[in-house]
Amino acid sequence: MDGLAGAKLRALPQLQRLLELPEGHSLTEDFPRAAVVEALRGALDEARVALRLGGVVAPDPLALLGRARAALDAAQSPCVRRVINATGIVLHTNLGRAPLAPEVAKAVAEAARGYCNIEFDLETGERGSRTQGIEPLLQRLTGAEAAFAVNNCAAAVLLALSGLAEGGEVVVSRGELVEIGGGFRIPDVIQQGGARLVEVGTTNKTRLADYQRAITPVTRVLLKVHQSNFRISGFTEEAPLHELAALARERGLLLVHDLGSGTLVDLRSLGLPPEMTVQESVAAGVDVVAFSGDKLLGGPQSGLLAGHTAAVNTLRRHPLLRALRLDKLSLAALEATLRLHCYAGPGAVPVLRKMGQAPAVLQARADALVALLGPFARTEATVGYAGGGTLPDVRIESVGVSLHLMEPEPLKARLRGCRPPVVGRIANGRVLLDMLTVDDDELPDLARAVREAASA
Ligand SMILES: *Cc1c(COP(=O)(O)O)cnc(C)c1O
Repeated sequence: MDGLAGAKLRALPQLQRLLELPEGHSLTEDFPRAAVVEALRGALDEARVALRLGGVVAPDPLALLGRARAALDAAQSPCVRRVINATGIVLHTNLGRAPLAPEVAKAVAEAARGYCNIEFDLETGERGSRTQGIEPLLQRLTGAEAAFAVNNCAAAVLLALSGLAEGGEVVVSRGELVEIGGGFRIPDVIQQGGARLVEVGTTNKTRLADYQRAITPVTRVLLKVHQSNFRISGFTEEAPLHELAALARERGLLLVHDLGSGTLVDLRSLGLPPEMTVQESVAAGVDVVAFSGDKLLGGPQSGLLAGHTAAVNTLRRHPLLRALRLDKLSLAALEATLRLHCYAGPGAVPVLRKMGQAPAVLQARADALVALLGPFARTEATVGYAGGGTLPDVRIESVGVSLHLMEPEPLKARLRGCRPPVVGRIANGRVLLDMLTVDDDELPDLARAVREAASA
């Protein structure tokens, strides 16, 4: 090492001296001392490396302390945090799917803070059922004899097949061998459940007779799967659910329905095309219907199972349940969400409220954002989606605000770096902020983020 670099290295302050400066004191007031020492060491090491690589000046003590503070701040800020969803995709799986209602968030906070009677029967003082709070609500909402919940719909389907079809055959239409997001493939789940898949029919047409012909002495389950994230149009045919239920009954089999998005409300009441409701599935006579808690139900991540007492109780006793059971926070959120469905109606469930917003409401929100931003922002008509692998072909009329500022890609990236981060999309060569998924009370934060990103 030449003398000059050596001199510059010697010019770096000692760690002890940094700690004694007022800024050093203030760091040890804000963070644990060991963490401050580690951060200062890191800042000094970085400076040494830079000097050895030919850096010209040694950073001064305040710069080193500033770097240490930035590192400590970054280590403190959570990786998972609130973001503003301006994508127009209501159930965005990457953004946490369903936002919860304030009452639901409050129920979660209550359950989290102290002890709760999650598995304790307050009347008898004995051990209680973990899903005691949600069962009567689910029965009331779905009309099913029995119901409970596990971690997600994928877990519910796995449990249903493991519990009801293990060692036997499961008959499924070739039009329903779906892959949901995240590599959840129906043929693989059947295999994981210890059963053998028997495909019937064709991609576009499967009739009742196809199922009838496939039944053998080892058939255990007829499985009906919601196509969820794709649609087959044109010449199509499928066996009606109630006919499958009658066939299963007649032949001593069980009918399992993977309904996926699982709406409890008639979507036509939100101005959307109809989807089979959970109630309709139950009424058609399925033995077990599995559906997701954080899609159109609008609750926490969970998978619900409802149906005939015998089949549901078989699943309740299955050893796999211990690995798939819900935690107290999700159960508190699910119970509170089901209560909203029971007693307050769909308008109280954020996901359903967002999907049913009137165009005038969206336009007013877009106008308010433009007023906060100025002339570089313009409102324009756009379309949003339900997302989460549900209603793939349903376009929801929406209003967006396009930003006529700079190249869209860097602007979109800068918006992600704001606090809170803003996730938008690019349309017609501009960043577009879709008002379908933004709340009125997020507008001030959203406007601040856009100004920050524009001036960075
Ligand atoms: C979404 C979906 C699942 C998985 O649901 P998660 O709650 O995300 O696990 C399973 N089956 C169908 C048909 C679906 O649409």
